[in-house]
Amino acid sequence: MTNQSRIDTLKEIVGRPTRKIEFPKNSKGEPVYTSEFFGENVFDLQQMGMSLPKPAYASFLKQMRGRQALDKPTADAIAHAARIWAMDRGATHFTHWFQPQTGTTAEKHDAFLSLKSSFTPNGEQVSAIDAFSGSQLLQAEPDASSFPSGGMRTTFEARGYTVWDTTSPMFIQEGPHGTSVLYIPSVFISYNGDALDEKTVLLRSTSQIAKTACELLSLIEPVPQGAQPKTSHVYTTLGTEQEYFLIDRALYAQRPDLKHTGRTLVGNLPPKHQQMEDHYFGRVPSKVMATMAETELELIRLGVPIKTRHNEVAPQQFELAPIFEEATRAVDHNLLTMDVLAKVAHKNKLKVLFHEKPFKGINGSGKHCNWSMSTDRGENLLDPTVKPETNYRFLLFLVAVLRGVQQHSGLLRASIASSSNDHRLGAQEAPPGIVSAFLGEHLTEVLDSIEESRPVKNFSVPTIQSIKLGGTVLDVKVATLPAIARDLTDRNRTSPFAFTGNKFEFRAVGSKQSPAFPVTVLNAAVAAALQEIAAALRAEMGDKPYPSDADKLTVIKRYIKLTKSVRFEGNGYSQEWVEEAERRGLLNINNCPEAFAQLIEPQNAEMLTKQGIFTASELQARHLIMNERYAKDIIVEAQTLRTMLASQILPAVYEYRGQLAQTVSLLKDIEGESDSPELATIKSLTPVLKSLQEAIVELDASLKKMHHAGDDPVEEAKIANRVVVPAMEKARAQADKLEELTADKFYPIPHYSELLWF
Ligand code: ADP
Ligand code: MG
Repeated sequence: MTNQSRIDTLKEIVGRPTRKIEFPKNSKGEPVYTSEFFGENVFDLQQMGMSLPKPAYASFLKQMRGRQALDKPTADAIAHAARIWAMDRGATHFTHWFQPQTGTTAEKHDAFLSLKSSFTPNGEQVSAIDAFSGSQLLQAEPDASSFPSGGMRTTFEARGYTVWDTTSPMFIQEGPHGTSVLYIPSVFISYNGDALDEKTVLLRSTSQIAKTACELLSLIEPVPQGAQPKTSHVYTTLGTEQEYFLIDRALYAQRPDLKHTGRTLVGNLPPKHQQMEDHYFGRVPSKVMATMAETELELIRLGVPIKTRHNEVAPQQFELAPIFEEATRAVDHNLLTMDVLAKVAHKNKLKVLFHEKPFKGINGSGKHCNWSMSTDRGENLLDPTVKPETNYRFLLFLVAVLRGVQQHSGLLRASIASSSNDHRLGAQEAPPGIVSAFLGEHLTEVLDSIEESRPVKNFSVPTIQSIKLGGTVLDVKVATLPAIARDLTDRNRTSPFAFTGNKFEFRAVGSKQSPAFPVTVLNAAVAAALQEIAAALRAEMGDKPYPSDADKLTVIKRYIKLTKSVRFEGNGYSQEWVEEAERRGLLNINNCPEAFAQLIEPQNAEMLTKQGIFTASELQARHLIMNERYAKDIIVEAQTLRTMLASQILPAVYEYRGQLAQTVSLLKDIEGESDSPELATIKSLTPVLKSLQEAIVELDASLKKMHHAGDDPVEEAKIANRVVVPAMEKARAQADKLEELTADKFYPIPHYSELLWF
């Protein structure tokens, strides 16, 4: 065994041309502007308006906005129009596209092709037609028992349904051989209507936040009698910054750990990695730029408003971010983004890694979820405006968010817990297992001044009109530079939940996971807090029809005091914070099983069921599914590691040792040398080999222990965390030593230095 395949691969990579694709041009060969083809692969409202008969379109709008079920004639009309639109663009198949609790999306394609029989005097005549009915559009029936259901479905009663989510438009994506497929975004529910997916609960949570926010707004925004309330709908907004690694696919194919678990289970950092700080915003390698650009092109056609691309901190790590959108659509779009990126990377002979920590010792990846609430008039409810201290609406919504985070920090922690994100949370580059909120210097001063009933300190004199809250001008002492406005909040990268100007950024979310669950939980927690605050206002205003400014201020002040413990402005990575958080009574959860348990803590479970986001049994099921998934993840990792150690790494070292031993005995024969340097090398390998063999025995024993937990996923997850994970780390430590000691010629798997270098 030698490393020949690695060497051949490296040669092949260097000589490989970058894939080129055509960007859209018009008939004159001139470039088409991005805005002109944005959303061209989406059967959106505009497209529907053009392809549907007017009455059908009108009743669709009415039913979608009122969240009513579609009637059959309307559904049939939409299905017909969608089929023609899609077939004109090469579609041969349609699929419901949904989000089971696997962290990814699911689809099953059905052809439009149908057979129609007619009976003539000469017998039955069968002809082929293309058809797509309203009921096929609305509903499909995948086998629910083949998806995680946490015991809510058993194999003998396996019915489940996918149902078109009419708030999310259909779209086409490339199929094989120049064809395409019509995608129908759907929810996935059981025979009894239980949510089996991520989307149903997300939709419930967005309706709940709309309801509770509108209730609070109707209390604080008086309308003349008989008039309509100013705000009739509030929606959550979401912008997801997606981090990822891109590596060469031919090298990837030689790493069983990356293939089976998404991360490297063994491997040492090369001498130069990210310590020069030359990667962040660095020049993007041309192969990667080609992949990014092709991904963006496809996403733009799919109506995903992709905006930003750049190099990230670690080598081969990158980020892309869209313009924020209504949250449920933003979630669909994030999942599409991951999907398209994976497909395009494949075409470019690259592999995208969404895992939170693919490489030990360098930065991992996150998915920052920028979150806010907006009225149907486009007003951002978390916009502090120029004078936040007198903007009571802003302050009420702000304290509601703080209250929600404080009351349900454990739930937020649970929503981001996974075996892969465990490597990030609490490690040095990611927010820790303590959930706190960062507000920045200015807002902290505003809240402090209200709490202490004193005027706000004058920060610094704003000299130009700045769009950001009271932004000030920075003097950079270079006359030719334009005046620049300074934001009033600096960044705090160590906070898991940071206010960034006019939105919160939930930074602890994992890069691999769907943003759906964290956003669902955040929506639910804030909805509960909005209700609590509305009740406090009602109590304060007594018999008056509306609360006065003084009433509002009283409530704001009370909640500023009440939520103080969850606010933290300092370094979230420091040991002092761990100690301080403990004094404040905040949770510090650094492993998955403990985080999952938060889902069924009475305080959290009651809130989620009361807000109508989960039924008690859905929540129990989710708790089981999360534990089950964690346990399975760890088993797969442990078995992959074991196989790599036993079938690749150990044999390679044995071979190297064998060769050394031959040399040693030859030298002894020829020169009578009994103390050769080769012998010293053998001796340095021996104890490490022995330790590794022992570690493998221990790893096997740990897996057996897990097996003994029987069918209890909660117990299995605990053993996985406490016993299997440490056993894997122990084995890895020895394997990593062997990587350093073994002649490169014998080492069978690509090194970090090869994976992280183009
Ligand atoms: P920052 O540099 O502070 O991270 P950016 O302007 O780069 O801010 O935005 C990061 C992400 O936040 C983008 O996806 C952006 O669209 C999104 N975003 C901006 N405003 C909002 C908002 N009101 N609600 C949700 N997301 C937002
Ligand atoms: Mg950001």
